[in-house]
Amino acid sequence: MLVVKKFGGTSVADKDRIMNVARRCIRDYQAGNDVIVVLSAMGKQTDVLIDMAKEINPNPGRRELDMLLTTGEQTSVALMAMAMDVLGVPAVSLNAYQVAMHTTSAYGNARLKRIDTERIRHELDSRKIVIVTGFQGVNKYDDYTTLGRGGSDTTAVALAAALHADKCEIYTDVDGVYTADPRIVKKARKMKEITYDEMLDLATLGAGVLHNRSVELAKKYGVQLVVRSSLNEEEGTVVKEDVKVERMLVSGVAADKNVTRISVVGLQDKPGMAFRMFDALAKANINVDMILQSIGRDNTKDISFTIPRDMTDDALKALEDKKDALGAQDIKCKTTVAKVSIVGAGMMSNPGVAAKMFECLYNSNININMISTSEIRVTVLIDEADVEKAMNAVHESFGLED
Ligand code: ASP
Ligand code: MG
Repeated sequence: MLVVKKFGGTSVADKDRIMNVARRCIRDYQAGNDVIVVLSAMGKQTDVLIDMAKEINPNPGRRELDMLLTTGEQTSVALMAMAMDVLGVPAVSLNAYQVAMHTTSAYGNARLKRIDTERIRHELDSRKIVIVTGFQGVNKYDDYTTLGRGGSDTTAVALAAALHADKCEIYTDVDGVYTADPRIVKKARKMKEITYDEMLDLATLGAGVLHNRSVELAKKYGVQLVVRSSLNEEEGTVVKEDVKVERMLVSGVAADKNVTRISVVGLQDKPGMAFRMFDALAKANINVDMILQSIGRDNTKDISFTIPRDMTDDALKALEDKKDALGAQDIKCKTTVAKVSIVGAGMMSNPGVAAKMFECLYNSNININMISTSEIRVTVLIDEADVEKAMNAVHESFGLED
């Protein structure tokens, strides 16, 4: 059997944890399996590196930043190989260049295009455990790229798909996927199984356990995932196409505080304005999420939308540059907002789920700024200060607690 095991930063945060992970992987190896291990940088190392960069240059170039950030993962894979060696098991660490994991050229937000499997196969055939750097790739200029924060999950799934692995296990510091972040909602419950679609929405909406692109890839290639803890032997949560357990109306609640709302006020009310505005944002590589356009009056209209908060400065700059061309009167920005979402495949066939969520927020005296929905999701934008209250109230009103 070929197993891909991915361990996040907290799972390899110090020497003891590295040894613990090494032993866990060796167990699989000694049972006769081929084992590929994908690692994140140790602990909060990626944040530490970003801070270091910003102390020298508040606006570091993305190429150099990736050059720096990829050292985090390179440190952990090398140490892991040493740990396995000391435990008497042959292992080899490989970075993205050595494997050859080819990505697009967008530094900081690259996408995997192709993975060469030859080197890995060769190492597995000589009965080594292969330890691969997560989060990184190489672009057509032979430069290092990174896949976006949390991208190691995506590395693991991509490797599992490319090598037709029998299992892909994502080890983290929680026991699996919960109905809500247990740090915020005390009564949150661990799910046994969840569908790709639900997981994709929860991951995108801030559940924090999986990189959303890893779920996208897993669905595309049919890679069944298990999310479980590296600190205990609990079974974890299985992510797959269809789940057997009886469907709840809503499976989970997620919150995302990495949000800014921007309103462009007094745009000319004529064709092409939305295009020009969002085109400018797209060219600046900014992902726009919720969009709301007001009904035109006096030949003007307003457009509000949300973006990741860390892109606020870039977005404002891109819009200021276009302000005259758009004929906009004002650009407003609010960073103290957050998205709260409910997700569940069960809502597809049940009307009234959104209304129930709005009622619950109303009962908690929480004001809604913006709303967006899909077949299996309802998202509201609210004040950041209301997030905990909103999550607990919604979690309870849909009966998700233990
Ligand atoms: N080390 C990277 C990060 O902190 C990638 C990852 O952990 O998945 O974002
Ligand atoms: Mg992660």
